[in-house]
Amino acid sequence: MKFKNFPMVPRIVFGRGSFNQLDEIISPKRKNTKAPFIFLVDDVFKGNSWLMSRITLAYSDKIYYISTLEEPKTSDIDKLVEEIILSFAEQPSGIIGIGGGSVLDMAKAVSIMLTNKGSSAEYQGWDLVKNPAIYHVGVPTISGTGAEVSRTAILTGPERKLGINSDFTPFDQVILDPELTKDVPKNQWFYTGMDCYVHCIESLKGTYLNAFSESYGEKALSLCEELFLGDDLTEEEAQDKMMMASWHGGMSIAYSQVGVAHAMSYGLSYLLGIKHGVGNCIVFEHIDAYYPEGVAVYKKMRDKHQIKIPKNVCANLSDEQFNTMIDVALSLEPLWENAIGKDWKNTITRDVLRALYEKM
Ligand code: NAD
Ligand code: ZN
Repeated sequence: MKFKNFPMVPRIVFGRGSFNQLDEIISPKRKNTKAPFIFLVDDVFKGNSWLMSRITLAYSDKIYYISTLEEPKTSDIDKLVEEIILSFAEQPSGIIGIGGGSVLDMAKAVSIMLTNKGSSAEYQGWDLVKNPAIYHVGVPTISGTGAEVSRTAILTGPERKLGINSDFTPFDQVILDPELTKDVPKNQWFYTGMDCYVHCIESLKGTYLNAFSESYGEKALSLCEELFLGDDLTEEEAQDKMMMASWHGGMSIAYSQVGVAHAMSYGLSYLLGIKHGVGNCIVFEHIDAYYPEGVAVYKKMRDKHQIKIPKNVCANLSDEQFNTMIDVALSLEPLWENAIGKDWKNTITRDVLRALYEKM
């Protein structure tokens, strides 16, 4: 058996208001006056002086606002990298991603592609990156995906939705300031929060489970239950705890794997552009056969917060479209092996997946 030797985020700040330290943290990393810091900021913060006034620009530092209407594509990364290369005389001193999972993944991918040739699509997979990324910092503004701690940058490419999984992907620095999440809309809070809940269930119920993953998964799960089923938390406590749940959920899957909901939701998002958090919820509505308790508790959480989950998203799809989703889902072999076991191919057939997708 070969054990994973996985990299961790080496530096992390946690606390309400810690975002104020951004400038102080990154300044020593400036290589010279011609090597800018590039800030990738979710465009929801455009004109938001509460947040933006705390980003200090010097020399040729630049802010790029990122639309998160769609999840990041390999073509978005390639375009942005080309623009950065053409705009500046030198390699940037660092990339700072400020936003949710979409922007964090873009920041990771851009920092890798500034030092690796070709298209980002060539690096979708496991351990294909050759050169270390440039310095990159993650500042989450919504909690749940675990993208702040993970070893992957998930991108939709011409052929598949798959992460750039590599030892160079994790951030060099993360700033966890729960106050930044205070204006997240309720539905989005639930969807992205459920991503964390689903990470916990898929990790804890998976065949890859081990004591390492279990210790993080159990903590994240108990935080999720407190957050989504409890009544005692102040808003501030809830923001703090959601941020830690996201971190622990991400740590849990770092040493195990996700499962059925993720495999199927990747299919939905590849074909229909359905975003990750809500996609997981759409799938979770229908997979009680695999995670009976996890799905029952999820439904309690959904009802308590009166969240409407989209229905019939697969109505009117052609056979070809169903087949595309099934191909994407089945290609994620480690997820199925974790969920079902080594002989997963005996039970996870195209017909089984088709019947599930038809219900969604
Ligand atoms: P997101 O980044 O797409 O953001 C969701 C929405 O919330 C957007 O409309 C955004 O503008 C808004 N938002 C973010 N912060 C806000 C704030 N403070 N106030 C108001 N609105 C705010 O959503 P997400 O669920 O965080 O991330 C999903 C993405 O993360 C997907 O692309 C998915 O593939 C990826 N992902 C990555 C990993 C990983 O380990 N790398 C894990 C899971 C998911
Ligand atoms: Zn996820």
